Amino acid sequence: MNGLMQDRPLLISHLIDFAERHNGSTEIVSRRVEGDIHRSTWAECAKRARRVAHALDAERLQRADRVATLAWNGYRHLELYYGVSGSGRVLHTLNPRLHLDQIAWIVNHAEDRILCFDLSFLPLVQAIHSRCSTVEKWVALCDVDRLPADSGIPNLVSYEDWIGGRSSTYEWPTFDENTASSLCYTSGTTGNPKGALYSHRSTVLHAYGSVQPDMMGLSARDSILPVVPMFHVNAWGLPYSAAMVGCKLVFPGPALDGKSVYELIEAEQVSFAAGVPTVWKMLLTHLQTGGLKFSTLERTVIGGAACPPAMLRAFEQQYGVRVLHGWGMTEMSPLGSVCSLKKQHAALPDEARWRVLEKQGRAVYGVEMKIVGGDGQALPWDGRSAGELLVRGPWIVRAYFKGEGGDPLVDGWFPTGDVATIDPDGYLQITDRSKDVIKSGGEWISSIDIENIAMAHPAVAMAACIGVKHPKWDERPVVVVVCKPGVEVSRDELLQFYAGKNVAKWQRPDDVVFLDAIPLGATGKMLKTRLREQLKDYRLADTSA
Ligand code: ADP
Repeated sequence: MNGLMQDRPLLISHLIDFAERHNGSTEIVSRRVEGDIHRSTWAECAKRARRVAHALDAERLQRADRVATLAWNGYRHLELYYGVSGSGRVLHTLNPRLHLDQIAWIVNHAEDRILCFDLSFLPLVQAIHSRCSTVEKWVALCDVDRLPADSGIPNLVSYEDWIGGRSSTYEWPTFDENTASSLCYTSGTTGNPKGALYSHRSTVLHAYGSVQPDMMGLSARDSILPVVPMFHVNAWGLPYSAAMVGCKLVFPGPALDGKSVYELIEAEQVSFAAGVPTVWKMLLTHLQTGGLKFSTLERTVIGGAACPPAMLRAFEQQYGVRVLHGWGMTEMSPLGSVCSLKKQHAALPDEARWRVLEKQGRAVYGVEMKIVGGDGQALPWDGRSAGELLVRGPWIVRAYFKGEGGDPLVDGWFPTGDVATIDPDGYLQITDRSKDVIKSGGEWISSIDIENIAMAHPAVAMAACIGVKHPKWDERPVVVVVCKPGVEVSRDELLQFYAGKNVAKWQRPDDVVFLDAIPLGATGKMLKTRLREQLKDYRLADTSA
């Protein structure tokens, strides 16, 4: 016997309709590529999204056809999010930080028919357009008078010209909620990039999951700043969650430096911000050097890479900002877990409370997790047994776009490639990525633990731990360090810094390598593959003979 509830599909168009109806006057503020601040509202966004839908109809785009974007976080990008997916097409967010060849490869693989880009990416588009054989129209996200003359790009229009003059009423189509809505390629640190193809259902369910109080805890009282780019797993779904709860949205555009982000937080009374650790590092440095404080920022989600405990503490102790350490991946839309305390933690002394908060947190309802050993057997949730983390749930991929890479699942579970422990309270701790874990004498050493300790040293700006070959132990950890400008620490001093910290003696690094910079990938994460390549001739002193 079926239940007798209405069968209404979960569609992205309902999110924007809802935001318009219930929170229409709530603001959407964007720092534009042009440099100025633009003010809009949810009602205005909804109207213009419907104009986008008309423009796509006029181009005769079919359902499921792909519309690509090469754009920063801003109101026009948001209108495309809703106009493209709402009308049944697939929004394909391209990561402009990838190599040109890779971007062209992805455009062709996705068979994008229209490509919309911010003017700051004009040189990039000029470099790749002739190689993008499926793109019929190029849309510059600007006013008509800013459209570059003689760009050499065929079929180029300005966005305002393209959507201007079209009706702002539009009947959003109704279709199966499993219809594809957006496409995001993984960064491809190994092999070709692979497309995670989200559906309307997965996107709306992910939004329901992520706004929960113990997750991002968003509400109509918030002013939120997604610093995480809209081309990086849809800014962690925040454009959808924001419409669901009707909060104010503040977009940083291309200005991600500490000063610009700080000014925007203050000017727009931001209460919640989200980004990767490298961006927050720039913000903290700006605050520290200028002796500044936040007046409205209450909490920030930090994820995409491990948040160093020193950063977590700096935010809370010096600035009164609660850090929500989150974990996820492109294949998971991306949210998997967020760290917030339980009632039982309220009375904990500070140090013990920090140790909980440093973890990646508890699974969001909708994501099931398990950790397995080398034999594939499930390991206990005892906070000590580390194994490969597998996940399943309605917003996790079951296959990649066009079947790329074959069947990724193992008995219905998606292997994350992360190594983790889970404690009896369900708190997940990522100890490594499986390819980064250091295997020394048959035991595993967490590169994240080694990095976190180095990062707590006042002279260290960035630290990456990699395994280097060792004749006796297979691999030994070496920590690669970038010092803060004008500050120094010696090798011995830093190695000594590990004494008394939360790592066994045999897990401490054998050596320190000082570099001017650590290579970063397209989403601001440390690129250890390149770092290993860079240090391929490096030998530990006691093994070089
Ligand atoms: P890519 O896998 O191409 O780097 P993703 O953005 O999908 O792109 O990255 C997901 C990975 O990032 C996770 O599998 C995990 O290794 C890492 N990651 C994300 N959040 C965290 C976190 N809070 N702590 C540690 N690692 C994290």
